[in-house]
Amino acid sequence: MSCKTLVATAALALTAVTGFAQAKELVVYSSRQEHLIRPVFELYTEKTGVKINYITDGEAPLMARLRAEGANTPADLFITVDAGNLWQAEEMGLLRSVKSDVIEANIPSQYRSSNSQWTGLSLRARTIAYSTERVDPDTLSTYEALADEQWQGRLCLRTSKKVYNQSLTATMLETLGEEKTAEIIRGWVANTSVPIFSNDTSLLQAIDAGQCDVGIVNTYYFGRLEKDNPDINVALFWPNQDDRGVHVNISGAGVTRHAKQPQEAIKFLEWLTTEEAQRIFADVNMEFPANDQLPPADDVAAWGEFKADTIDVEIAGRRQPEAIMLMDRLRWN
Ligand code: FE
Repeated sequence: MSCKTLVATAALALTAVTGFAQAKELVVYSSRQEHLIRPVFELYTEKTGVKINYITDGEAPLMARLRAEGANTPADLFITVDAGNLWQAEEMGLLRSVKSDVIEANIPSQYRSSNSQWTGLSLRARTIAYSTERVDPDTLSTYEALADEQWQGRLCLRTSKKVYNQSLTATMLETLGEEKTAEIIRGWVANTSVPIFSNDTSLLQAIDAGQCDVGIVNTYYFGRLEKDNPDINVALFWPNQDDRGVHVNISGAGVTRHAKQPQEAIKFLEWLTTEEAQRIFADVNMEFPANDQLPPADDVAAWGEFKADTIDVEIAGRRQPEAIMLMDRLRWN
């Protein structure tokens, strides 16, 4: 737990003791890191006077905490990444339905809960990264093709314990069926020559260093490395452009079931889908705005346009248990 987290927690305790029920304050539990959320919170406070208290932690501890606190939770809003996690929060009964014309107008339905319990706020593509020194991009085509023999010993994978890969697998199960998905994963696992990675950044660095030639990563991790090292010998490739498109996932938020100030929380969530908030929320992490009326920032747009999968991201949660079992069975560690 960081110092900032402790300070925020102390502030929460104080609020609880003094019982500021009418105060214009909201409490957010966020699994997104502080430096990614603070700028947008500060702008909201500046514009409306509503103070945003927050704590940051991993999604699992935050969800466990919300469940344990039940009706006593101080949290009004839950922010996390990946539809798999948001779906989980919905399944656990931690969120409430929010019918909002603003949110429905700003965020395409494929990036929202079908029960209106959460909405996407930014988009990230989970795509193919390749070595610009050892791979001709003309030899790349689809996620499926990374199971081909030509990638024997050349593929890097991140652990299947990470929700990002669970969501990718879940959407493949939905689109391709179990047999085909199993065949692809078997091929991927067979094509890895180096140990499974614990994060996308070290995977990208391994491609740059020549340990492997291709991998599957979230776009913003590449963006961060490229910003630090413009000469990095890695580039992004957009797969499946002739069929379903690139796998896209979200970061997002939902109003908690036991929010003390649900109307204020909804207003804040609505504002997060508007242009001025989206510009910060997406751009600060080199993500794409979830509001489809807005273009991405220049550095993100520079990666080129692509066709994104239009599948409901909710599928990532719905089929997550099957995805985990399949990856386990095929020894994707
Ligand atoms: Fe991430």
